[in-house]
Amino acid sequence: MSDGGRPPSILILGGGTAGWMAANLFQHRWGTLGTRVALVESSEIGIIGVGEGSTPQLKAFFDTIGISEQEWMPRCNATYKAGIRFIDWSDRPGFDRYFHPFLTTADAHTANKFFYNTRARRTGRDVWAHPDRFFLNTALARKRLAPLAPADAAFQASYGYHFDAVLLGRYLKEVATGRGVEHVDAKIASVELGENGDAIALEAEDGRRFEAEFFVDASGFRALIIEQSLGEPRRSFADNLFNDRAVVAPTPLPDEGPGCCTLATAKSAGWIWHIPLTSRIGNGYVYSSRYIDPDEAAAELRAHLGLANDAEVRHLEMRVGRLERSWVSNCLAIGLAQGFLEPLEATALHIVLTTVDEFIAEVDSQGMEEAARSRFNDATARRYEGIRDYIVCHYRTQLRRDTDYWRDAAAMTELSDSLKGIISAWFSGGELDREVAEQDIGGYYSAVSWHCMLAGYGNFPDASKLRPPGPDIVPVDMDEIDRFIAECAKTFRPHSEALGMLEDAA
Ligand SMILES: Cc1cc2nc3c(=O)[nH]c(=O)nc-3n(C[C@H](O)[C@H](O)[C@H](O)COP(=O)(O)OP(=O)(O)OC[C@H]3O[C@@H](n4cnc5c(N)ncnc54)[C@H](O)[C@@H]3O)c2cc1C
Repeated sequence: MSDGGRPPSILILGGGTAGWMAANLFQHRWGTLGTRVALVESSEIGIIGVGEGSTPQLKAFFDTIGISEQEWMPRCNATYKAGIRFIDWSDRPGFDRYFHPFLTTADAHTANKFFYNTRARRTGRDVWAHPDRFFLNTALARKRLAPLAPADAAFQASYGYHFDAVLLGRYLKEVATGRGVEHVDAKIASVELGENGDAIALEAEDGRRFEAEFFVDASGFRALIIEQSLGEPRRSFADNLFNDRAVVAPTPLPDEGPGCCTLATAKSAGWIWHIPLTSRIGNGYVYSSRYIDPDEAAAELRAHLGLANDAEVRHLEMRVGRLERSWVSNCLAIGLAQGFLEPLEATALHIVLTTVDEFIAEVDSQGMEEAARSRFNDATARRYEGIRDYIVCHYRTQLRRDTDYWRDAAAMTELSDSLKGIISAWFSGGELDREVAEQDIGGYYSAVSWHCMLAGYGNFPDASKLRPPGPDIVPVDMDEIDRFIAECAKTFRPHSEALGMLEDAA
C-alpha cells in the first residue's frame, strides 16, 4: 500500500455509469498521487443503459472533477431537474398530485410555516396544508423556469439533472481515459483469489489476466467479484419494495420542449416515469411481476403514452436489495453490483457517488484497516436503509386503493423501527421535524421531504372532520407566501432559455 493507505493500483470491473464515475473520482483524487487506475469492461455484455434522473449529488460530482455544465450537459442531452411530481398516488380530493422539491435557500422562510400548518391540520384544523404552495423549486417547475439562480440572486436553488444514460457513460469514459485511466475491453470469466481471500487478478475468456492491488466491482447486477467470487450475501428488500421489473419506451419531445421535473405517475401495479431530455422523453413503467405480467405492463405503458399496440418497448429485470457489506477484502462494490433501490427517487447514482467519496475519505484518514472497513460498511448500510425507508414510506402512506397492489402496499406491517417512528409521529400529531432530527436521518431525506410526502398524499383527517382553527392557532398568511415565492421566482430564467445558452456556449 502507498502513503495514507492508498492502493498503488485499482482495477474497476464494469464500464457502466457507475464504473466510469468511479474511474473519474479515483483518477482525480488518487491518480494524480500515483495510483494507477484501470477499467475493464466487455463490449459484448454492454451496459444497462437506463437511469436518467439524478439528485444534486451529480452537480457536486462534476464540480469536483472540474467539468462545467456547458461542457457536459449538451453532450448528454441533459436538462435541469427541480424535483419530482407525484401524480395519482392518492384518491383524496385535492391531493391527486404533489411536488417533491430539491431544497432552496428560500425554504428557510416557508418550511416552518408548512410544518406548522401540517401539524395543525393533522390535529383537525382546517388550514392549508398541501405542500405545493410553500416551496420555490415547486413554483419553478410549474412555471418551467430553470432552477439555476443568477450568482447575485437573493436565493439559491439546489437541483439535479436528467440526461441520456448512454451518452453520459460515453462522455465520462472520454474524460477518464483523457485523464490517464487505462481502458481494456475484455470479457472476464473468473476471479483469482489469494490464500487470504483477497482478489489477485481478473481472468478474461481469451486468457488475458489483469492484476491489481484493489478492485472495484461495477459489473452491474452480475456482481461478478463481490458476490459471485467473494461470496458476499445480498439482503433483499422485496418484502417492502414490490417492484422487480420495468418496461421502457421513449417518446418525442412535446412542442413546448422539456420540462424541468420528473413525473412519477401511479398505475395499476407500479408507476411510470417521464424524464424530459433535450432530445426525447424517457418513459418507463416500474412494476411488480407479482401483480401483472410483462405483456400487461407493456400494454399499460403504451396506453399511457398513446403509443400503438405494437410499439417497441424494452423489458428489464431489477434486483432490489443491497449487499450486506459493500467493501469486502480488497474489493469495493458500487452501482447495481452494490445494491439497488427501485428508481422512484432516482437515488442509484447518488449512492455510487457518496460510496466512492466516503471510501476515499475513509482510506485517506484511516487507511485500509479492518476498523475503517467496518465503519464504512456500517455507514453505507445505514444510508441504504435510510433511503429505502423514505421510498417504502411512499408505498405505505399513499392513498390509492383501486388494485390489490396499492391495497397490499398500504397494508405493509414489516417496517423498520425508524420508519415506524416517522409514521407514528405524523399520525399522532407529533413534531415530525423533531423526530427526523432525533433519529439523525435528515442527511438521507430532510424534514421538508418527509412532510411533503405525508402531506402531499393528503394523510389528514377527512375534510368533513376538520374544524375552523381556533385562537390557539397562529394563522399562516398564504397570500404572503404566494407573493414571496412569486417574487423569488422572478430572477430565474425559462428552462428553454437556460438550455439554449448552454448549447450556444458549447
Ligand atoms: C429501470 C431502472 C431505472 C433506473 N433509473 C435510475 C434513475 O433514474 N436514476 C439513477 O440514478 N439510477 C437509476 N437506475 C440505476 C442506474 O441505471 C444504474 O445505477 C447505473 O446505470 C449504473 O449501472 P452500473 O454501472 O452499475 O451497471 P451496468 O450499466 O449494468 O454496467 C455493468 C458493466 O459491467 C460490465 N460487465 C459485466 N460483466 C462483465 C464481465 N464478465 N466482463 C467484463 N465486463 C463485465 C458490463 O460490460 C458493463 O460495462 C435505474 C435502474 C433501472 C433498472
